Amino acid sequence: MKIGVTGLGERKEIAPGVFINAAYRGCTPGFVSTEEGVIMIDTPLIPEQAIDWRAQIEEECPDQPILYVFNTDHHRGHALGNQYFMPTTVIAHERAHKEMSGYTENFKERVFNSFKREPDIQKQMTNIEIIPPHLTFTERTKLLYGGREVDLIYVGGHTPATSIAWLPEEKICFVGDVLWVDQHPYMAQANSKEWLEGLALIRELGAEKLIPGHGPTCTAEATHKVEEYIIFMRGRVRDYYLEGKNKNEAKSGLVSEMLAWFPVPPDRKAKIESQIKSGINRVFREIQREEEISNGGVSASSDDDDDDDSE
Ligand SMILES: [Zn+2]
Repeated sequence: MKIGVTGLGERKEIAPGVFINAAYRGCTPGFVSTEEGVIMIDTPLIPEQAIDWRAQIEEECPDQPILYVFNTDHHRGHALGNQYFMPTTVIAHERAHKEMSGYTENFKERVFNSFKREPDIQKQMTNIEIIPPHLTFTERTKLLYGGREVDLIYVGGHTPATSIAWLPEEKICFVGDVLWVDQHPYMAQANSKEWLEGLALIRELGAEKLIPGHGPTCTAEATHKVEEYIIFMRGRVRDYYLEGKNKNEAKSGLVSEMLAWFPVPPDRKAKIESQIKSGINRVFREIQREEEISNGGVSASSDDDDDDDSE
């Protein structure tokens, strides 16, 4: 088993017919085997790993079609591998379709360039094909195949497209990037208030196992830390706003306070700092809108996006 740059780890069966692989880069993909075919949750970013994942699925479910690929959001780590699972039907929130339809040559170039220090991976990134969802939903929908039920539920928060896959029978929930364990949540496209509601919704499901988009399998208990992190960031940003400080002052003043919440590998420090700043930026605008509205004014700020090197 090779784990690391090529990361071809073995699948793990977390309940009968429900598998994940936490060894890949970009996200922890999963699949559910039903008597009628396979339902996948997210796809690996790195082609070699996506091909490996498909081989593992075919080994586990020989001669079964892949019925659906569900993307929990439109970010590269969750949806860029879609091309390696065709033909199938990709399903995601309608906002994911909008975002992915906007992935141009420039986006592909940025993905390519982001691997400049890893030539073994970069050389695989030369024929990226974007497969946006073929089928979309806005609030929730159910996939009912071979006696299995997979509920796809919009939660938002992390991005305006973020959705989760809930298996009510198995009490397993694939929570995408709503939940981050032992690492900083990526908030550059976040709505922090919605995110807190999403975490509460996940706890209400009564799941026994949560599969985060990044990090190890956990229980609903793990939702509290990221909730505290977001509440703390919102509170501190509000302090800055009410003191009359601007967005840039909030970003530079708060980044070290936020950094201390989760371990940061030294080689990723600069990147994580810049991601935290994007998150503070995002939350600042949100707090600004909330304060303007609570003062009886009409908020003039718009809901624009900050999608950079998203996760
Ligand atoms: Zn994401």
